[in-house]
Amino acid sequence: MKVLVIGNGGREHTLVWKISQSPKVSQIYCAPGNAGIASLAECIDIKADNIQELLDFSIDNSIDLTVVGPELPLSLGLVNRFEKEGLRVFGPGKMAAQIEASKSFSRYIMEKYNIPIARGESFDDFDKANSYIRSQETPIVVKADGLAAGKGVIICNTHDEAIHAAQKIMVDQIFGNAGKKVVIEECLVGEEASFLAFTDGKTVLPLPSSQDHKAIFDNDQGPNTGGMGAYSPAPIIDRIMHDKVMETVMIPVINGLKAEGINYCGVLYAGLMIVRDQVYVLEFNVRFGDPECQPLLMRLKSDVVDIMDACIDGQLDRFKLDIDPRPSVCVVMSSGGYPESYQKGMIINGLDNNLDTEKVRVFHAGTAYKAHDIVTSGGRVLGVTALGDTIQSAIDDAYDAVSRISWNGCYFRKDIGKKAVDRLGQLPQVGIVMGSDSDLDIMKSAAMTFKQFSIPYEMTVASAHRTPERVMKFARDAEQKGINVIIAGAGMAAHLAGFLAAHTRIPIIGVPINASSLQGLDSLLSTVQMPPGVPVATMGIGKPGAKNAALFAIQMLALNNTDLQKQLQDYKRDMAEQVVAKAKAVCQGMLEK
Ligand code: AMP
Repeated sequence: MKVLVIGNGGREHTLVWKISQSPKVSQIYCAPGNAGIASLAECIDIKADNIQELLDFSIDNSIDLTVVGPELPLSLGLVNRFEKEGLRVFGPGKMAAQIEASKSFSRYIMEKYNIPIARGESFDDFDKANSYIRSQETPIVVKADGLAAGKGVIICNTHDEAIHAAQKIMVDQIFGNAGKKVVIEECLVGEEASFLAFTDGKTVLPLPSSQDHKAIFDNDQGPNTGGMGAYSPAPIIDRIMHDKVMETVMIPVINGLKAEGINYCGVLYAGLMIVRDQVYVLEFNVRFGDPECQPLLMRLKSDVVDIMDACIDGQLDRFKLDIDPRPSVCVVMSSGGYPESYQKGMIINGLDNNLDTEKVRVFHAGTAYKAHDIVTSGGRVLGVTALGDTIQSAIDDAYDAVSRISWNGCYFRKDIGKKAVDRLGQLPQVGIVMGSDSDLDIMKSAAMTFKQFSIPYEMTVASAHRTPERVMKFARDAEQKGINVIIAGAGMAAHLAGFLAAHTRIPIIGVPINASSLQGLDSLLSTVQMPPGVPVATMGIGKPGAKNAALFAIQMLALNNTDLQKQLQDYKRDMAEQVVAKAKAVCQGMLEK
């Protein structure tokens, strides 16, 4: 099989590397490629947006599969042109690509299909944008509608700054046509994460979560870049958040596009902001992120060509991804001065240090050959990527390889992956135990409530009947870990709460789960009816009980925590306001009738 990969960055080197592992593939071409790619593929001197020449090349060379790396050729309709000629190509068509190429189109789809986004509006008239900005709170975000090489988003602290940004984009047209419209959005504060999936337009097959580091300096300081590093998985996207992202973002957007008559085939990337228990979409990209692609493909064990074929053939439902459980980290090494002006042509030392191993790969982004030397030829030069048994060992191995490479003016961030290490290092304050994985759907309500209050928790499955040792161990270790309360959810003969209470001094709150023909009454009675000396608090059956268990636990924690007391007060006030709002709506409805 002959494969053509389009693009010349770190993402494309990673794609070429991964594609080269497929036994189906006999030859890879890359247009235009870079010095790293040249060791695996034949580099062709055609630019990524020169669709006609790419098409001619593919026909002349009987290319079996074309894989498009960057967004520009996708938004220009490369896929439509190739398909018209009967060529197989992996990536979305022109209409589908608008979800990245036009932020107003993307907002339109998200609003129509109830996908969570920041409050905001699109404008094609500067005066209207101006008065809207004045009517909103600051900070506020101004975005150019079209593709602006990652520079089109400006976060503004004052109204004047925002109006100035809108003027630069719409009137001065600093991003050209991309700034004909602007999107103005509320500024969300939370933690960002990237969520990518393969899709054939019907099935959505998620890759593990990842996180990018956009700012140039450590601790996310300084101007944004294309990305200075990434890691996977992102601990902020735990199993529960993963399900929420699939249910509220990924599946609805693919179905929404389908309802609009747009079949999406390729990789869909959602840039997310996680605000406590809420997920918001900041943007969609219609291709792999760079540098998220590097850690993600290092972890992908399946044959990527099989997955791409399944997407093109609309048969992704038959596929399961095989993912390496080890975390992965990519550290981007850039030219000094990037993302502003920088020098090119610096000789890169250390690339012959046998750096590539089973665990470490040096992916090239902005590199070229100059005589026999490999030199810098772009802002982001290399993506040094490592797999590790822990995120810390992946970080250590990536930085060890980085330390053996150098050139004049080379720069890299020193804190890639630190957020993941910090989050994983947070000690849980509460424990959630459930008797079976089938209880997860109910116990999610407790977990989401803890997220809402930013309380770290540990969650596990352990059965009082089938794995009593596991329950005992959890109960005994909990105190040492700093856990203050345990919530135990179980169905049928629910001895879990009492069994835990027998093995720890930590207060236990039982949540009865409806798992039998007795509709949860059996577990309610076996949870509530504890012998004297074994106290267990018992909540109602099912989701409301799980939520109340979390709130009750938070009330206990709040006894010694004024911040939590304040949060609980706010929570109760919001609840009361919602009731009043609903009451008003009902009364209004009755009046109208
Ligand atoms: P985008 O191209 O829309 O992903 O925006 C680039 C970056 O701008 C994001 O990764 C965020 O860091 C930031 N950003 C975009 N929209 C918002 C928003 N509504 N609130 C806060 N930050 C945002």
